[in-house]
Amino acid sequence: MKIRTVLIIGSGIAGPVLAHFLHRKNIQVTIVERAPQLRSYGQTIDLRGAGREVARRMGIDAEVRSRITREAGLAFVDGAGHAKASFTADSFGGQGLVCDTEILRGELVDLLYEHSRRDAEYLFGDHPLTVTDLGDQVRVVFASGAERSFDLVIGADGIRSRTRRLVCPDTPAIHYLDMYTAYFTIPYQPGDGKWARWYNAGRGRTLLLRPDNQGTTRAFLSFRSSRRGHEELSRAEQQALLHEVFADAGFDTARVLRDMAQSPDFYFEAIGQVKLPQWSNGRVALVGDAAYCASPISGMGTSLALVGAYILAGELGSQQGHRQAFQRYQALMRPYVRNAQRIAPGALRFASPHSRAGVRLSNAVLGVLARPAVSGLIGKLNKPKADAIALPDYPAKA
Ligand SMILES: Cc1cc2nc3c(=O)[nH]c(=O)nc-3n(C[C@H](O)[C@H](O)[C@H](O)COP(=O)(O)OP(=O)(O)OC[C@H]3O[C@@H](n4cnc5c(N)ncnc54)[C@H](O)[C@@H]3O)c2cc1C
Repeated sequence: MKIRTVLIIGSGIAGPVLAHFLHRKNIQVTIVERAPQLRSYGQTIDLRGAGREVARRMGIDAEVRSRITREAGLAFVDGAGHAKASFTADSFGGQGLVCDTEILRGELVDLLYEHSRRDAEYLFGDHPLTVTDLGDQVRVVFASGAERSFDLVIGADGIRSRTRRLVCPDTPAIHYLDMYTAYFTIPYQPGDGKWARWYNAGRGRTLLLRPDNQGTTRAFLSFRSSRRGHEELSRAEQQALLHEVFADAGFDTARVLRDMAQSPDFYFEAIGQVKLPQWSNGRVALVGDAAYCASPISGMGTSLALVGAYILAGELGSQQGHRQAFQRYQALMRPYVRNAQRIAPGALRFASPHSRAGVRLSNAVLGVLARPAVSGLIGKLNKPKADAIALPDYPAKA
């Protein structure tokens, strides 16, 4: 049966990209977003490899380039703020810890919405209460009271997806990495300069400060903890916890903790990866973080969302029937996702060491890697994870 109508749940990154490419195939798209308006906030995210190629095929590459944050690079600093190792943005061939296309999530969300709002019917401030796969269509009852039917429903509703229950009801999907992170925006100070600065305070605590292209500074605090559930606390409780954990951390943490209370966009999460045996069930499927969140540690979440949405739309648009399309989507994406989610043994301990000796060792190793001869060689030998897929070409019309 020809696919005519699709409901996409979630208007973050994956949702609008999927809408855009489905529209190109003459499929009628509705996007429902729970928030009353676009959630155009969040911190600096990386757009890499095939993800950038999807942005190019969508026609937004030039606009993405015009909005990059233009950080000079990333410096690992000690408690006095002295750089122990510095990597320019083009280190490792532009595919290092900071890549050559860093953009604020909010700017990318705005851009994707602008480029898809005429391609889809957007419903803000609503969400599905029930989604029932009737075999030949999917019946959706919305919180607003509306009831509608669609040929397919796609969950692009992020790491805490509710749609996922319909696809894999019995699988514990999120694999936590025993690490929490908080992102928020604080006032810029001249000392913040043009470099991102990474400070390891020991006991698995890290502060990252990133000057942006809007005259503010983006702060990230992260800490390792095997205790579950901090993400369920209220904002006030999460901020109190951060004060407790970072009380004696040194460097710029006192200022960051002070400014955190006034921050307009405080966001706290338990870092995890989503791993599922299947990404579809009947007429319902998943895309982006809902299906295969790789975690901010991977630097691949946005690229996976773009590439996954592009391939899913391309396969659905080729009108081979949704079952085959979902199977091909999974077969094409699975190796790319597996590779993106791979975390080298000991990598988290290296990035956020516990002991003082661990911090010193980590800085010393980074100092060696930062030498131009070494980073240049690694850049040449390294095969970036973001490039590890050959994007199929999908003709514009079905
Ligand atoms: C507010 C916010 C800030 C973020 N900040 C960062 C950051 O600073 N750094 C980083 O690396 N990653 C961040 N992320 C995650 C990042 O966007 C994703 O890892 C990645 O880009 C994949 O995007 P996605 O579209 O799959 O999911 P997301 O970008 O998470 O989008 C999911 C969307 O679905 C909506 N939604 C959820 N449930 C429902 C429902 N039941 N009905 C309707 N809509 C629903 C959400 O409101 C959201 O708009 C953030 C996500 C959000 C939502």
